[in-house]
Amino acid sequence: MYKRRLFTPGPTPIPEHVMLKMAEPIIHHRSPEFNEILTRVNENLKYLFQTAQPVLTLTSSGTGGVESTFVSLFSPEDTIIAVNGGKFGERWVKMPRTLGLNVIEIKVEWGKAPTREQIEKALRENPTAKAIYLTHSETSTGTATDVKSLAKIIRNNSTALVCVDGITAIGAHELRFDEWGIDVCVTGSQKGLMIPPGLAFVALSQRAIAAMETSKLPKFYFDLRKALKSYKKNDTPWTPAVSLIIAVDAALQMIRTEGIENIWRRHERMAHAVRAGAAAMGLKIFSDSPSYAVTPVWVPDNVEWKQFNKILKNTYGITVAGGQDDYSGKIFRISHLGYYDELDIVTAVAAIERTLFDCGWKFDIGAGVRAVQEYFTGGK
Ligand SMILES: *Cc1c(COP(=O)(O)O)cnc(C)c1O
Repeated sequence: MYKRRLFTPGPTPIPEHVMLKMAEPIIHHRSPEFNEILTRVNENLKYLFQTAQPVLTLTSSGTGGVESTFVSLFSPEDTIIAVNGGKFGERWVKMPRTLGLNVIEIKVEWGKAPTREQIEKALRENPTAKAIYLTHSETSTGTATDVKSLAKIIRNNSTALVCVDGITAIGAHELRFDEWGIDVCVTGSQKGLMIPPGLAFVALSQRAIAAMETSKLPKFYFDLRKALKSYKKNDTPWTPAVSLIIAVDAALQMIRTEGIENIWRRHERMAHAVRAGAAAMGLKIFSDSPSYAVTPVWVPDNVEWKQFNKILKNTYGITVAGGQDDYSGKIFRISHLGYYDELDIVTAVAAIERTLFDCGWKFDIGAGVRAVQEYFTGGK
């Protein structure tokens, strides 16, 4: 027998009862039944983002959610600042450039988080910047940014909107939209929300909503003014992905039951356990500021990534994510975002141990699992 287990940072595993919800007969989206579901989803999304502000649900992947913010908030030639420390940060430089915005790029070495000095310098040099885009958890490098501190710096030094790609951070890292002074935060359904790909969620502050009134970039489907108008009636401007909204309703109820603080804490613990397991196997962590959603690990020197990945997947059924661009074959990424518990982490580390052993890596087999168990039981 061969059991597949997904440890990738999107799509992430889906709880069985959430999957079954999507198998029920479809309902019409302009019906009292659907309105009731969307009303509950809208309420619970506020809880997820820790906000009293609207969180709009769009039928698109996360990238579409971010695009909706560029086209809905800004005008041609507006200056925006974007942090590029990996594949997603790079996307938030390329996309607004394509859309006709003047983009100031803060380049950050892969595996490092942007510093306070880098943000302050960019704000000083670009006092007319309308926004700064930060990636809370840069999935390509498994690196977390200190959004709380940086948001404060941005708020104290400028009028720029604080815009956050929270796509793998929401549900893994603490994020308090209102308290931290965030203006825009986007997430996607196939990450911490534990449902299939296809929905994006966009939280907007009053400042962001005000910016929408003067925005002149062309838009239609992704016009957040239309989405906001419908949102006020717990409706959507276009046919939404009905089944996914039904799924996210179930997932959000799970999130409320567990409690957002407990969820953040669970992810922090799982991340620390994976790091302890990796260290005990002689593996090194790639990032200086590792994410709680996904742990980036260097492929050991005399292990060949292709062989490692093939054995891990085909023999032990575990799918992890490889490295991208310059880090292809050099790092791999173990996700623990969403529907995972402590014993899932034991399983992932056990499979990595078996695979390393099969690849001829010299280490004390069992040390990784022991370190994970010791971390969880508070040993050492
Ligand atoms: C997955 C991801 C995206 C892109 O989302 P899609 O749903 O693939 O469009 C953007 N940013 C981050 C940090 C992500 O992890």
